[in-house]
Amino acid sequence: MAVICTAILAASIITPSYDDYWLARRNLDRVERFRLVLDAANRLSAERGPSNAVMGSVTVPASDAMQQLAQFRSASDAAVEAIANPVTSNRESVEHPIPTRFLEQTTVQLKRARMQVDRVASLPFEQRRLEDVQGAIESMFAVVDDFQLVVAWNVDELVDADDGIAAPVLIGHMLSDLREYGGRIASQIMAPIATRHPLERKHLIDSSRTRGRLNELWRLVGGQDALFRSDSRLAGKHEEIQRIFFGDGLDMLDALVAEGRTSGNYSLTAEDFTERFVKTLQPLESLRREFLNVKIDELMQTRDRALRTLMLVIAVAIAILTILAGIVHMVHRSVLSPLLQARDEVIGLAQDRPVELGNREGYAGEMRRLFDAIQILRGKLLERAVRTDKLKEQAETDGLTGLFNRRTLDLIGQSKPEQGGLAEMACLILMDIDYFKLVNDSYGHQAGDLVLREVAGLLRTLLRPADVVARFGGEEFAVLSSGDQLSDVVVRARRLRLALQRHEIVLPDGVRLNMTASFGVASGSFGTDEWPRLIKAADIALYRAKTEGRNRVRFAAHDPLDTTS
Ligand code: GH3
Ligand code: MG
Ligand code: MG
Repeated sequence: MAVICTAILAASIITPSYDDYWLARRNLDRVERFRLVLDAANRLSAERGPSNAVMGSVTVPASDAMQQLAQFRSASDAAVEAIANPVTSNRESVEHPIPTRFLEQTTVQLKRARMQVDRVASLPFEQRRLEDVQGAIESMFAVVDDFQLVVAWNVDELVDADDGIAAPVLIGHMLSDLREYGGRIASQIMAPIATRHPLERKHLIDSSRTRGRLNELWRLVGGQDALFRSDSRLAGKHEEIQRIFFGDGLDMLDALVAEGRTSGNYSLTAEDFTERFVKTLQPLESLRREFLNVKIDELMQTRDRALRTLMLVIAVAIAILTILAGIVHMVHRSVLSPLLQARDEVIGLAQDRPVELGNREGYAGEMRRLFDAIQILRGKLLERAVRTDKLKEQAETDGLTGLFNRRTLDLIGQSKPEQGGLAEMACLILMDIDYFKLVNDSYGHQAGDLVLREVAGLLRTLLRPADVVARFGGEEFAVLSSGDQLSDVVVRARRLRLALQRHEIVLPDGVRLNMTASFGVASGSFGTDEWPRLIKAADIALYRAKTEGRNRVRFAAHDPLDTTS
């Protein structure tokens, strides 16, 4: 129970740690995918640079610019492909794939825009009309605008998914927009520069609207001191952007706008402007890239921390479980198991059956005392058993001869040999030493006792183990046998008589005696009622043996074998 409770407790501690780890991993995957999406947006924006350069190039074909454009195009294709078919691991933990319809819309528009750019670029410089160039540029804007659906979808998904990543995702989005508008403001005046026309009202309005957005975004993002201080990789970026993009880049743009207001004579060609202006966009791009790198590193750290916590919690839980299992084992070994052993031993002692004694060496304190107490109990019970055996023996036997006494003989005779079975036949020999009183009178009581012991010894050696031999009275003995025929028992009585007659008893003073005895034999049954009858019959037979001259065997009168021996 204790182990189960601890396991449940451990599980309830491990689960939140595991959830933290899993969330950290998922957030990392989410933001990594978001980085891919913003990379793709950036690539699509950046493709405008070489596109404008190609359309503004005086030489046809503009091989250098064309080559650069081809590189940018394959870079944006690869970036779009990377989010359509991500190859990075663990994508299963990012809930939803990007809806393909948004990506398809972008790729269709991209194809259309590229065709427009290629068509304009293939024309000799003089034949390029402002509207065509403007159309191709706006078509390239439309690609990014379409792709914004993907970005917005991804932002919504991540902001909804977890509060922890909402702020970095929103800031990342703003930084991406900053880069987009930074590029867009130049593209908006690119068509008149490429075709050497004065700026029209539309160009001025678009450009100043974009300038307003840029300022607004920079106010939001650039105002966040904490952002630029959060990591050394971001330090200095604020000043760099302020100086290079908002300074050099926009100054260059303002100069060209001023030229375009009055005439179509620009101090820079579209190619040169593109090349120089794109350089000023670098800090914006770098800020977005580094910001996401920092955030991804932070998420990795969070994930690793969560993993370490999880491992620690699991290790602690395992350690606690192991310790607990050890305690349970120890309690079992040093308390429960000895108690069970003690219980078995006590029951064994109570039931008087042998119990294997366990090893007591390891026990200490209370257990040791418990087993000592059991040992004392065992000793006392043993003493009592010895005493009881002795008392029983004393109660059953005759002190002088060691034979059963009269009481025991009566108990055996009165008992039914088999409960529920047929009562076996019982044969009783009663034997009385002839003229025994003379021994007492002539040689003393001690000599009489010796004779009694000698006779008892003789009976024991001559009779079968199954026979019950008892001292019936003073110098009278009884032999009770079961299952024998009366005639067989009579024969045995005669053998006894002869054996006694021949047996010489030597008294301590050297006197040699030959004793005889008279025998009365009778047959009957065991049992309370039958036993006195059997004794009586044997006694009558014995009396006859005495009266007919002693030293002879007589048996119950009705028996046809009753002849003088
Ligand atoms: P009978 O041939 O008629 O049997 O004559 P008996 O002398 O053997 O018989 P009686 O009954 O006259 O004498 C038995 C004697 O046995 C009497 C008693 O003093 C003696 N006796 C009884 N028990 C003991 C005993 O334990 N030790 C000794 N030494 N004598 C005993
Ligand atoms: Mg007698
Ligand atoms: Mg006698």
